[in-house]
Amino acid sequence: PPLYKQRYQFVKDLVEKYKPKKVADLGCADCSLLWMLKFCSCIEVLAGLDICANVMKERMHTLSPLPVDYLQPSERSLTVTLHHGSVAHKDPCMLGFDLVTCIELIEHLEESELKKFPEVVFGFMAPSIVVISTPNSEFNCLLPQVMLYRHPDHKFEWSQAEFQSWALETARCYDYSVEFTGVGHPPTGMEKVGFCTQIGVFFRKYPQTGESVQSEKPMEAVYKTFYKGLK
Ligand code: SAM
Repeated sequence: PPLYKQRYQFVKDLVEKYKPKKVADLGCADCSLLWMLKFCSCIEVLAGLDICANVMKERMHTLSPLPVDYLQPSERSLTVTLHHGSVAHKDPCMLGFDLVTCIELIEHLEESELKKFPEVVFGFMAPSIVVISTPNSEFNCLLPQVMLYRHPDHKFEWSQAEFQSWALETARCYDYSVEFTGVGHPPTGMEKVGFCTQIGVFFRKYPQTGESVQSEKPMEAVYKTFYKGLK
């Protein structure tokens, strides 16, 4: 399967394993991953955030309930919400999530946004699990075209050592542990190059106390919510 499908499948497997009830996808783009996650029966709340409202709107309608959902109402309720905003800003609508996914997002962030990102995701949202994927620059020598980056909008592409040192430092700062893996295997004999897409799965070390969830968090909304669907 194409690489993006392998990334989505990786997230889906993680959901099947840990059964989060509330999942937020940051940099959700055309909502393809959200659409896939809609079918995971453990999920009750799905939220998407992107800085580009137009790309979210493209296939937003696919998140609406299907006729079958009305004909065979299930026990489970599912709420899907889409927000327009940046991962560099905190918004209370992003509190209380169990799993936060950032698939091919960080390499699109400006330096100033990337600086704020850990405090927003790990410090403020503070979900039990965060998954972050990003290109592995060491794999680029195996790709057909010769380009600086895989996509013109990439602000950087990190080697395994660069990603891992950023991830370990972030995990240390916010009391998370992190495990490294990836999708897109290198050919036999080239294992040192690593996966085409590198992935870090972060686990919060300590449970959040009710107090830390509520207090000291700015309660002013900065994102624009433009879609709310119920199943
Ligand atoms: N996660 C999707 C996937 O894996 O198919 C899309 C990844 S796409 C390469 C990166 C997305 O991040 C784009 O939709 C872009 O608009 C969004 N993005 C870039 N900067 C952002 C920011 N500061 N806050 C939220 N989203 C951002």
